[in-house]
Amino acid sequence: MSEYKKKFVLDEERIPKAWYNIVPDLPEPPAPPLNPATLQPAGPDDLLPIFPPSIVAQEVSAERYIEIPEEVHQIYRLWRPSPLIRATGLEKALDTPARIFYKHEGVSPAGSHKCNTAVAQAYYNKLDGTTRLATETGAGQWGSALSMACQTFGLECKVYMVKVSYHQKPYRRSMMQLWGADVVASPTDQTNAGRAVLAEDPESLGSLGIAISEAVEDAVTHPGSKYSLGSVTNHVLLHQTVIGEEAILQSQDADAYPNVVVGCVGGGSSFGGLAFPFLRENLAGRAKTRLVAVEPTACPSITKGAFTYDFGDEAATTPLFKMYTLGHDYMPPGIHAGGLRYHAMAPLLSHVCNLGLMDAVAVRQTKVFDVAALFAQTEGIIPAPESAHAIRVAVDEALKAKEEGVARNILFNLTGHGLLDLSAYDAYLSGKLEDYDHPEEEIAASIARLPKVE
Ligand SMILES: *Cc1c(COP(=O)(O)O)cnc(C)c1O
Repeated sequence: MSEYKKKFVLDEERIPKAWYNIVPDLPEPPAPPLNPATLQPAGPDDLLPIFPPSIVAQEVSAERYIEIPEEVHQIYRLWRPSPLIRATGLEKALDTPARIFYKHEGVSPAGSHKCNTAVAQAYYNKLDGTTRLATETGAGQWGSALSMACQTFGLECKVYMVKVSYHQKPYRRSMMQLWGADVVASPTDQTNAGRAVLAEDPESLGSLGIAISEAVEDAVTHPGSKYSLGSVTNHVLLHQTVIGEEAILQSQDADAYPNVVVGCVGGGSSFGGLAFPFLRENLAGRAKTRLVAVEPTACPSITKGAFTYDFGDEAATTPLFKMYTLGHDYMPPGIHAGGLRYHAMAPLLSHVCNLGLMDAVAVRQTKVFDVAALFAQTEGIIPAPESAHAIRVAVDEALKAKEEGVARNILFNLTGHGLLDLSAYDAYLSGKLEDYDHPEEEIAASIARLPKVE
């Protein structure tokens, strides 16, 4: 164990010099986004009002590798390479022959993987002359990561925070404010999108879809401003591939190349980032790693949703993307405590699942919190509830290995720590969490309301 750690912790040489774009290696290209008015493929021109040119170039890039600028690399070095840790305590508790490893992304300044793309996006916006970024945040991880990155590069930052979280997660708000951001509870009365929601329901607790609509509207109506997104899009998945590239080197160093790679999926960026470099190895015939995306039964976009064109936001203002979706008017139930609430899944990750190159499973939240507690008790680290979805499936895989009596290397993504999610743990400890399966009829009804494209 000690020898294993010495080999690579804090070795700067292990931070990749380039991000990996999986698009040119896929057996079929992903379907293009469509302009909702013309239903014609949306090109760079459709994206330029909201994103700066260098980000748009990455969004549509067909280059296999994109160099990480030195300025970004330098900031990555504050916490990267993130450690790859063997969960020996958890293995012992499970009495499994499997070896369980986790990539610990909770060591970043804001406490999650989201800093990997926040820093890159702030850098490119600065380079292209943006002075101010607008964004949305649900539980606050993305907003805090972007606030930190904007502070680093001297950009203003406006964050539309989903109202229910704004009140439930005051410390995330404090972090953003400490890093200089202007944080408001969405829906607000500052945008047309927000006012429309409030007119219908003055008590609205907000949703990620509503907050996205507000932030996009803000960006296009304020000079010098652009919009920034923390997941879902191709460029975000691209930036997150530092996770997978590091994990490949580290697992080779540890002589423990994974048989199974597991990650939670909300918008799909952290798992795309971990899994795509491993998928490259699979596609090149160098490995046969099983890739498993884990989602909550309360928001089962891949396992129960439709693979079809839908909007990225509640107000139906974004281009149409072909992706697994529950319908853009999906509202997460109040009882759901584990995050991962986005109505759809990254188009690139959706495409990979649809091609059969990645598996997906949905898990119930009480079972997720059970293993979150077990992980905290055996490994010391309190995981983000989102990350605990991956722990659930990693544990199930380890128990299966025990049943079958086979040794197997399991790697999962610990996307963040849970030190600011203790209210969810309180709900768990006091027995208030209930399981919820999003009803199929509701999904079907929502899908039926979508624009007919094909
Ligand atoms: C945002 C977040 C997620 C989900 O987002 P993805 O884009 O699917 O990665 C998972 N874990 C943590 C800790 C997060 O902050």
